Amino acid sequence: MTTPRATGHRLMMPDLVRGPAATFVEGRGDTLITSDGRAVIDGASGIGVTCLGYDVPGVAERMAEQAARLQFAHAMRFDTPPAQELADRVAGHAPDGLDSVFLVSGGSEAVESAIKFARQYWIERDRPGKWRVIGRWPSFHGSTIATLSAGWHQARRAKHTPLLLDFPHIEAPNLYRGCGHCRRAGHCTLGCADELERVLIREGAETISAFIAEPVAGAAGGAATPEEGYFARIREICDRYQVLLIADEVITGFARTGRWFAIDHWDVVPDMIVFAKGISAGFAPLGGFVARTELVEQCSQGSGRFEHNFTMVGHPVACAAGCAVLEELERIDAPARVARDEQELFAALGQLSTAPLVGDVRGKGFLAGIELVADRDAKTPFAPHQAVAERVADAALAEGLLVYPCGGSADGSGDHLLIMPALNMATARFAEIAELLGRALAAVGVEIGGPTG
Ligand code: PLP
Repeated sequence: MTTPRATGHRLMMPDLVRGPAATFVEGRGDTLITSDGRAVIDGASGIGVTCLGYDVPGVAERMAEQAARLQFAHAMRFDTPPAQELADRVAGHAPDGLDSVFLVSGGSEAVESAIKFARQYWIERDRPGKWRVIGRWPSFHGSTIATLSAGWHQARRAKHTPLLLDFPHIEAPNLYRGCGHCRRAGHCTLGCADELERVLIREGAETISAFIAEPVAGAAGGAATPEEGYFARIREICDRYQVLLIADEVITGFARTGRWFAIDHWDVVPDMIVFAKGISAGFAPLGGFVARTELVEQCSQGSGRFEHNFTMVGHPVACAAGCAVLEELERIDAPARVARDEQELFAALGQLSTAPLVGDVRGKGFLAGIELVADRDAKTPFAPHQAVAERVADAALAEGLLVYPCGGSADGSGDHLLIMPALNMATARFAEIAELLGRALAAVGVEIGGPTG
């Protein structure tokens, strides 16, 4: 039997039957243009990537100049001025003590690299048994085998479970539903942070290299934000059991939540911060991690080697893009801009709290999550086969708005949308985004039922 495929699409996409939801041919400011000439407001910065919209001064020029001068140097043995400059710029925004930057081509590569670096650090400390990573349920850290193992995004894991590594998980904070620890208490007790200690005792801290968490949850947690004190407790436990703390800031990094890095909100210093997405604003595949210098010194004074590489590590044209993007984020003082205007975003999106299908509106900075439920009082999630988040995203696209449909924040199932405006988007747009999304929610609400307002 042959599989039906959309005509004209030999390009393989995850949806093998339907093909692309739209073909975009141009970007202007905060708007994308489709091949049939329709304008779509980008309410999600692609998927948290195009943090400066679509015509960013100076970036394309800087990339072209670098490509014309030198397009490649093998970073296992050589470096280049843009790679050096980017490392300096990233370290300049990282918490004190995190000074060593490793550059790759995206988020999964960056998390994978951090996991491998954590493992090598413990080998240098003569503790080779420490190799497993504790992650959270739910969470998303990437699509490679190790990163999929560290995260827990039910839908993205399901088909791959036999391939995955034996990494333990603890519950992620969930202030909307309450995590398993706090549901009965009716308030957050930081029980989900304390679970880290119990899992370390159960699994044996001598087998664990690192704990990884998104400071504010992305694809799997729908912008769930922890209670004050959560990361301080986590840091304390990591220190007590000699486990490295990795902050996955692939979505939250570079001002998305109103600080250069979201972990800064809680004055906690992790051992490594992983970044990607916003660092190049979508101009080039780019990511990396910044590590505590002390960890790197342990390795340089030991074997003298980080045994890990990809061909495109520290790619000069991508690094040139990253430098120009960081320069622009600095010029507009992106963290201050987001911190100043986040209330406006949440005031606009808050209007949707009583819109059809909506159970919760939450988030931090310009990272907002809208959880969709079948019953608002009981917080009942929709069945996965109803694909409600995708249907709302399709309806929004028809209205001229791009949002990011995701799932997993209701004990592994459930639907949510991520709204992540460009960090320089005009505040007047927020009301438009809410209006277009309100229409999409109403249309899908009529189709499937659920809370109506
Ligand atoms: N970590 C987080 C928190 C993410 O949100 C993502 C992607 O959405 C990744 C890692 C993986 O990044 P990439 O898709 O660039 O491989």
